[in-house]
This record gives sequence, C-alpha cells and structure tokens, in this order.
Amino acid sequence: MILPPATLGMLGGGQLGRFFVSAAHEMGYKVWVLDPDPASPAGQLADRHLVAGYEDYAALDQLAAECAAVSTEFENVPAGTLDYLAKFIPVHPSAAAVAVCQNRIAEKTFLADNGLPHGPFAAIHSDEDVAAANAGLFPGVLKVARFGYDGKGQARVASREEALAAFHKFNREACVLEKLLPLDYEVSVVLARSESGAVRAFPTAENRHRHGILDVTIAPAHASACLADNAQHVAEQIAEKLGYIGTLGVEFFVTRGELVVNEMAPRPHNSGHHTLDACVISQYEQQVRALAGLPLGEARQHSAAVMVNLLGELWYEGGTHEGKYREPDWSVLHAVPGLRLHLYGKHHARPGRKMGHFTVIGDDPAAVLERALAARAAIGIHDE
Ligand code: ADP
Ligand code: MG
Repeated sequence: MILPPATLGMLGGGQLGRFFVSAAHEMGYKVWVLDPDPASPAGQLADRHLVAGYEDYAALDQLAAECAAVSTEFENVPAGTLDYLAKFIPVHPSAAAVAVCQNRIAEKTFLADNGLPHGPFAAIHSDEDVAAANAGLFPGVLKVARFGYDGKGQARVASREEALAAFHKFNREACVLEKLLPLDYEVSVVLARSESGAVRAFPTAENRHRHGILDVTIAPAHASACLADNAQHVAEQIAEKLGYIGTLGVEFFVTRGELVVNEMAPRPHNSGHHTLDACVISQYEQQVRALAGLPLGEARQHSAAVMVNLLGELWYEGGTHEGKYREPDWSVLHAVPGLRLHLYGKHHARPGRKMGHFTVIGDDPAAVLERALAARAAIGIHDE
C-alpha cells in the first residue's frame, strides 16, 4: 500500500486530472502532474506541474524518481510512455489496457474476440476496405481509429461513396466504419477495479448528448433494473478481461431494447462527475485508491443526481463566436437548492470546450431532473 505523504503522478492535466489531484490531496497525498499546457486545470492544483510533452523522457525520469505510482487521465498518452514508466514504478491502468481503449479498431476487436455486445463494424485501412465493406453497414458512421473525441473525427455516411470521401478527408488514416444504430437512449457504467480483482461499479447512468458532446447525465438511469444490471455486468467483464486496475468508463447504446458497447475510456468519465456529490466515494477517489493499492471504497449512490456540462459557448452572448465574450452569471446557479457548481479553471472558453459542470442532488429523481433542467435553461443553455 502506498500511504501519505507519498507523491502520486498523473499523466494529463485536464479536468479529470484536476479532480484526481483534489481527491488525492484530501487523502493526504502529494501529486505531480505532467502536461504540456502551462495553464492546465490539474497543473494549477498540483504540488508540481512538469510542463512537458508525453514523450519527454527527461521529464518522465523526474516523475519516476519522485512518484510512488502513476495514473493517467488522458487516453492518448503513448503506450510507450506508460511502458517506460512501468520499468520504474507501478503504472495503472497498464499500457496494454490503455492501448485497447485508445484505438477503435483494437477496442472493437477486443469486444468481438471476447463475445461482448458490440455493433456491426469494419476496420478501414484502405480504399479497398471501403469497397469491400458489408452493404449492411450503410447508413453508417466513419470514425478515425485514434485521437477522436467529443464527436470529432467522425462523419455520418449514407453510402459507400460518402464513406470513401470521408476516408480521404481523414487523410486515409485508419478508421472504423460502424452501422448507424437507432438509439433508444445511451447509458454508461463507471467502475473501479483493484489489483486484487475487486470491482465496485457505480449505478448505471443515462447520458444525453448534444452536437456529439455529453450534455446531461441522469443517475441512476431510468432504464429497467435488468438492463442497468446487465450494463454493470458487461463493464465488469471488460475490466476483468483487460486485467484493468483503476477507474474505467464504459459507454453503451441501447438500441431496440438491446445493450451494445459503444466505447471504453481508460480513466474516470464525464458521466461519472456526479459521483463527487452523490456517491459515498467518488470515481476520482476510487482511482487514487486503486493506484495506491488501498481497498476500494463504497460506490453506493446516496442521492438521485443530474449533471449538466457547461461548454464554452455559454461564455458568448447568443451562444456563438459572434456573440460578446463575458462570464456567465453564476449567482443564478448558486441560488438553486441541492446544486453544486464545479469550474475547471480554464482560462479561455471556446465553443464546445468543457469548462465546468453542475450537479443537482436530492431524494426525488423527478424533482432533481426538473430542477437541473430549469437551472440549465436559466444559465442559458437552450435546445434549438
Ligand atoms: P466520442 O469519442 O466523441 O465520444 P462516440 O463514438 O462515443 O465518440 O460518439 C459520440 C456520440 O455519437 C455517441 O454518444 C452517439 O450519440 C453518437 N453515435 C456514435 N456512433 C454511433 C452509431 N454507430 N450509431 C448511432 N449513434 C452513434
Ligand atoms: Mg463517446
């Protein structure tokens, strides 16, 4: 067990890393963050911020010398970086587990090989692969295999011709072609798994997206108990098959009543932010516990919760780049009972950038949802 006042390392300085730093500090640890952005949200709170790239081996040596163990909050950390650090100190999750989650082809192949539910897909490496793709995949979605996020690096394609054009637009980078599925709704499971193989899953949550970015999470999900249990079970199988240690997020589609895994995130997940306010132990504290070899905490959710993401457009009058830039009126949110606001300390808002979120908690799920949606409208988020 790694105990305070030991120093833990974090690769990546975004908001997920920032909440990790806060959780670790609460527990008495020190944290060093490595991120190339001098203004990174987690770097601001860290005991030391190494402003360096993920393949800066001098900085990695410093991290390995100071830290008792290292985790990641950013799935695109090169696997070679994790392998290198693992020569000196424990690294969780492992390079092998992260490598599966950071490449959509590896991810879907993993699901298929393990008999886990996934949608129809084809790996696309060449024009010939587009020509040979099963006609049943259209209409579909072409996604770059690596480095896509928040709907970026994706194109809806009605036909083979459109798929070919999109593949060229993505500079013929490796892609997956997925069948466009009719979604009833989307859910996710966040869980933590320890070195001993113990697993604690948070209750299944329901996610609503807007322009390809998570907008609202409702926890627990409205789904039937059977579907919610099933999602937890599939997520646990994924964690076991990956030999995963740490906090893992698994996104699902519910299509015609059936669960299909969409993608995995080898880190805490945006749809688990509410665990900060509505669960005994948050997904970030679980990440600290798994990394430090402590027993996992209780994942029980004590309050109904609804989380609303605050994206950069909120900083612009009228919600677009043309509008005047100004700070939203936070006093509107602080007046709402049961609401907690979390802002990430990002210096400049761009449309689509995740700047903060709020969570409303309470005893009655329907009242919590109503209050959260009213607060979302009051701060200025409107559905067109
Ligand atoms: P990201 O890495 O950007 O989160 P996702 O693959 O999760 O990428 O896609 C973002 C969103 O786009 C999904 O949550 C879902 O709403 C929609 N989507 C993606 N793939 C499909 C699909 N095959 N069928 C239907 N909707 C999809
Ligand atoms: Mg996603």
